[in-house]
Amino acid sequence: MFSFDAPLKNVLIVDDLKVIRSILKKEISRCSDIQANLIMAESYAETIELVEMHEFHVAILDVNLPDAPKGEVIDLLRSKNVPVVVLTGGINEMGKKLILEKDIVEYVTKNNPKSISYILSVIKRILNNYSLHVLIVDDSKSFRQVIRKNLEKAHVNVLEAASAEEAIDIIDESDKYIPLVLTDYEMPGMSGMDLTIHLRQVYSKDRLSIIAISGADKQNISTQFLRYGANDFIKKPFTDEELSARINLNLEMIELFKMSKENASKDFLTGLYNRRFFFESGNPIVDKAKRKGLPIAVAMIDIDLFKIINDTYGHDVGDIAIKEVGVILNRCLRRSDLIARFGGEEFCILMDNTLAKNVEIKFELIREAFEKNVIKIDGLDISYTVSIGINYGTNYSLDDMIKLADKALYMAKDQGRNSVVITTQ
Ligand code: GH3
Ligand code: MG
Ligand code: MG
Ligand code: MG
Repeated sequence: MFSFDAPLKNVLIVDDLKVIRSILKKEISRCSDIQANLIMAESYAETIELVEMHEFHVAILDVNLPDAPKGEVIDLLRSKNVPVVVLTGGINEMGKKLILEKDIVEYVTKNNPKSISYILSVIKRILNNYSLHVLIVDDSKSFRQVIRKNLEKAHVNVLEAASAEEAIDIIDESDKYIPLVLTDYEMPGMSGMDLTIHLRQVYSKDRLSIIAISGADKQNISTQFLRYGANDFIKKPFTDEELSARINLNLEMIELFKMSKENASKDFLTGLYNRRFFFESGNPIVDKAKRKGLPIAVAMIDIDLFKIINDTYGHDVGDIAIKEVGVILNRCLRRSDLIARFGGEEFCILMDNTLAKNVEIKFELIREAFEKNVIKIDGLDISYTVSIGINYGTNYSLDDMIKLADKALYMAKDQGRNSVVITTQ
């Protein structure tokens, strides 16, 4: 889960060309998935000063600087254990050697138009790794140590289990986000294969990646692992590079799964949840509250006379006005309230665990917040009001409550808009 209080990570960009620094700065700041402090340098000398002042979490480095033409800046950052992405003029043998010799994460050529988006994805992946926990399961302490060293290069947090049984306890009980398990095959007690089967019954492939590692000579061992739900298989002996490459590939896949899941549940324009997600997570909340006899509030919010905004200022300004609803609702409501864009200029909110009196007060405040709000766009002051219909009680299903909230909304529109109507079951 996204952590709101996590401190910003520091990204270092070193290039003597101003144009490269500006492009990277612009693109990184535009990328909403990368929340980081950007720090720039144009020379080796300047970088030496910066590394004394800041802790960096990723560095994008030009290998060829006027005061350090042989990649000295890479050694400097690697000596501080900062993950390094190298920028060069073109791919060549020197570049390939660099990756292997200097232990860098990636090597990106500047002259490819796709490079920028590639660099962004690499930065995102590296920064993301700082919040991941990876679990190593192996009965051999020295082998766990080998894997740990490799994982620490990817800057993930490492957890260890000496047996499959211990691994299950850690995964079930830890409050940490553990999306990747690396498991040995042969262990006293439960085997890595049984661990894989067990974990797959509980966690789907988009929630937990499993990499099996084994030197066992038995035929088809890798096929069996994959059939029972492992995402990948590494055969011993392996090189450091192979292990790193596989770990990175699996971490990348986890990130892709996470992103596509998030995209599928969110509305593109406002970043609020969409209708489908609202029902998916709202139904169990309402069912549980009904069983316990606890009250629920469902509110429908609709912008008043929104057509006029579109007709007067155009569709793009209309979109900005719709986005603003998300900003205001996020500001006024709690994180535990479920907020969704239902379509067009219509929004739905589910609140549990609240007294009728508080619901009334809260939505009256929201109505007022819209009334007072002014959006400034290109010298224009745009404002609008909203109407709110709410249904409150302990008896009905989510579907029924939405219908009743909709009815209340029509009553609010009928009585002149810019008002709140609440009905109780
Ligand atoms: P009322 O007070 O009765 O709700 O009046 P209204 O004009 O807000 O109601 P109506 O539902 O008739 O119009 C909603 C308009 O919202 C119609 C549609 O063109 C516009 N709309 C729907 N989705 C979007 C969107 O994503 N962007 C923009 N700019 N407009 C949208
Ligand atoms: Mg073993
Ligand atoms: Mg409307
Ligand atoms: Mg409408």
